[in-house]
Amino acid sequence: MSKEAFLKLMKDEGAEYVDIRFTDPRGKLQHVTVVADLVDEDFIDEGFMFDGSSIAGWKGIEASDMKLMLDTSSAYVDPFYAEKTICVHCNVVEPDTGEAYNRDPRGTALLAEAYLKSTGIGDAFYCGPEAEFFVFDDVRYAVTMNKVSFEVDAVDGAWNTDTEYEMGNTGHRPGIKGGYFPVNPIDPGQDLRSEMLSTMKRMGMKVDKHHHEVASNQHELGLIFSTLTKQADELQKYKYVIHNVAHAYGKSVTFMPKPMAGDNGTGMHVNMSIWKDGKPLFAGDKYADLSDEALYFIGGILKHAKSLNAFTNPSTNSYKRLIPGFEAPVLRAYSARNRSGCVRIPWTESPKAKRVEARFPDPSANPYLAFAALLMAGLDGIQNKIHPGDPSDKDLYDLPPEELAGIPTVCASLREALESLEADHDYLIKGDVFTKDQIEAYMALKWDEVYAFEHTPHPIEYKMYYSC
Ligand code: GLN
Ligand code: MG
Ligand code: MG
Ligand code: MG
Repeated sequence: MSKEAFLKLMKDEGAEYVDIRFTDPRGKLQHVTVVADLVDEDFIDEGFMFDGSSIAGWKGIEASDMKLMLDTSSAYVDPFYAEKTICVHCNVVEPDTGEAYNRDPRGTALLAEAYLKSTGIGDAFYCGPEAEFFVFDDVRYAVTMNKVSFEVDAVDGAWNTDTEYEMGNTGHRPGIKGGYFPVNPIDPGQDLRSEMLSTMKRMGMKVDKHHHEVASNQHELGLIFSTLTKQADELQKYKYVIHNVAHAYGKSVTFMPKPMAGDNGTGMHVNMSIWKDGKPLFAGDKYADLSDEALYFIGGILKHAKSLNAFTNPSTNSYKRLIPGFEAPVLRAYSARNRSGCVRIPWTESPKAKRVEARFPDPSANPYLAFAALLMAGLDGIQNKIHPGDPSDKDLYDLPPEELAGIPTVCASLREALESLEADHDYLIKGDVFTKDQIEAYMALKWDEVYAFEHTPHPIEYKMYYSC
């Protein structure tokens, strides 16, 4: 929406406030609310000053002034606030020069899209993220559930049925891996999910479906594909709506990748395709009706998967999901059918719907950085004709050790992902899409999380070692 259309929307809606939003390096949506009377053409042209030193991973206290520039095309009416408020996503710029701030994730997403065009390979990168989530009655319940999950046998991961009895009558509850997808009352989330999706529709978001997921209390809503930066904006709205509708129901939502041991984790598969001149580039006559470009794109994703993990799986908890047996990938393999590899090619007859699905990302990722990094890895594959090798059409969870030994894996920890990013990031800084300074600052933030995790005793260590 143009500046004029934005100002008209404010007027037509009788807006009292404008909520100025941006995303920090960790991926959390931040906001500041401005009285609508002050938001005119000049305000939009000049931007809004704020203290960047209070955002982790941005400026130091000695150079804290930063500016938010409103991207009026991203405006929407907030569905939750009591006072009428128009929200708008912003880009962060240096106050003196007006240049894009190189650590602003939304800026990186915009640069990645511009880089794609500059290569001549394509002019649009479409993403379709499938961000799953768990709903708990409230945070205390989530913690109690986790206590139960610590009862999972530490050695072979088998569920201890005595513990299930302790949870009371589970007759109409989805059991472990039992959520996909019997009708209610086994599915307890129908009205909640419908209200989430309807809220998104009313905000002008393009959505298509919702369903219970495989784990108990786990759900997924469908966002229709869109281009990189727009889709990252949509994902921020998706999380915002899901958190707030759940909150209104007295529930608590988490997007953390593995809240429950012994049941499926929470993924964010990312479906991707490149288009050029209105034509899909990934449809062709090779394996699974893919083009050479699509295969090379997969080659790039698989080659750089370990350093990508630092952006697509950026929490210490992410690596509790990337284990065999829970529909999450471990091996760097691809296939048309198989859900146990890193990349799947969903079946479709339509060349327009031809896409590749990266299955390792999870929703603890910053969507702007994760989608941009995936695009850069795929482009590196196309530019260097990195063939992904033969597809793996077998159940990869069940391979004999001699076959397993030949297939590379994703990272097993955030520590390993950061070390991989340190060693492999040239593909990200092409065209100055990511910068070295930005990657270093991001890694510093994430190393703090690694140390906090590694230095803190875990509850299950009490179970395993307390009476040693
Ligand atoms: N929850 C699974 C994961 O961790 C995905 C399950 C599915 O969508 N089929 O990726
Ligand atoms: Mg799905
Ligand atoms: Mg799913
Ligand atoms: Mg999927």
